[in-house]
Amino acid sequence: MHKITLIPGDGIGPSIVDAAVKVIEATGVQVQWDVQSAGMAAVEKFGNPLPDATLDSIRANRICFKGPLTTPVGGGYRSVNVTLRQAFNLYANVRPAISFEGTDTAFSDVNLVTVRENTEGLYAGIEHFIKVDEEKIAAESIAVVTRKGSERIIRYAFDYARRARRKKVTLVHKANILKCTSGLFLEIGREIAKGYPDIEFDDRIVDACSMQMVMQPQRFDVLVTTNLFGDILSDLAAGLIGGLGLTAGANIGSDAALFEAVHGSAPDIADKGIANPTAMIMAGAMMLEHIGEPDAARRIERAVREVIKDGRSVTPDLAKTSPCGTAQMAEAIVERVRSA
Ligand code: ATP
Ligand code: MG
Repeated sequence: MHKITLIPGDGIGPSIVDAAVKVIEATGVQVQWDVQSAGMAAVEKFGNPLPDATLDSIRANRICFKGPLTTPVGGGYRSVNVTLRQAFNLYANVRPAISFEGTDTAFSDVNLVTVRENTEGLYAGIEHFIKVDEEKIAAESIAVVTRKGSERIIRYAFDYARRARRKKVTLVHKANILKCTSGLFLEIGREIAKGYPDIEFDDRIVDACSMQMVMQPQRFDVLVTTNLFGDILSDLAAGLIGGLGLTAGANIGSDAALFEAVHGSAPDIADKGIANPTAMIMAGAMMLEHIGEPDAARRIERAVREVIKDGRSVTPDLAKTSPCGTAQMAEAIVERVRSA
């Protein structure tokens, strides 16, 4: 029995999380869901977007399955997602981008994974204005790249490549300009690569890498990079396979791991019952893989891919003819998981 903290989230969150839970349960894997709240839902209930009970639950279970959260504007709240990342030291953001048959995209053979450093770089939060007489004359942002943080994420990428039977790790940087921060990251990458002779290693400058990713994404396998570049390139990769509605992400830390859809709470379609549950369901597959249920993970992934390819039970964002709703798409996936 796996005990997992479940956060339904805001907007379309509860509907896609419900869909994903049904699909996970259809595999037969035994899960005890510890339902907790965060985001707007928690503000409404407890006056706090991240109640202690939620943090305690994640601390105890070490695995969290989370719907998209809205951080309330005003009220001085910090982003809940950022707070969770820091509270559990979720240093690796892992996002597979693997083409789905039956979607309308420029390439049909993308198969790459971005591994983004999630705690330092330009997101260390060291930012300020330099003021003279109340006049903002300059703004500074400081990127922090540490040896420890770099080693940890680069090793994670190589170990991941080994586990996932992938062949190559590409380190993305801007060491020609950012000689200290990006330079250190690249230097450490070259050192660590020597310990993984079975995995090919190369590096790319981030601008050239972006161009190659949109021209020949087939060239890439595992990408590892610092926070800001990873933020941008992982969205680019999501775009290559058909957008945010399909893309799942894992946030892996030393103290916990959190699995989620990459997209937000999509308030524009929140009450319509038409959100695509794919990203959340694929996040569920990543989670099952992580907790040692790889067969169930693969069954889910295969079922999702078959349903999308088949095209008869898909939400409006994917449908070429008659679309269905979130629940119907989930039901089609559940049936295939059961019969697999
Ligand atoms: P948030 O403030 O929570 O980030 P957002 O308004 O930025 O929310 P996103 O969820 O990031 O919204 O989505 C951007 C666009 O993509 C929206 O128009 C939304 O309807 C669409 N979208 C996002 N996720 C899905 C999904 N799972 N299914 C269908 N459409 C989606
Ligand atoms: Mg958004």
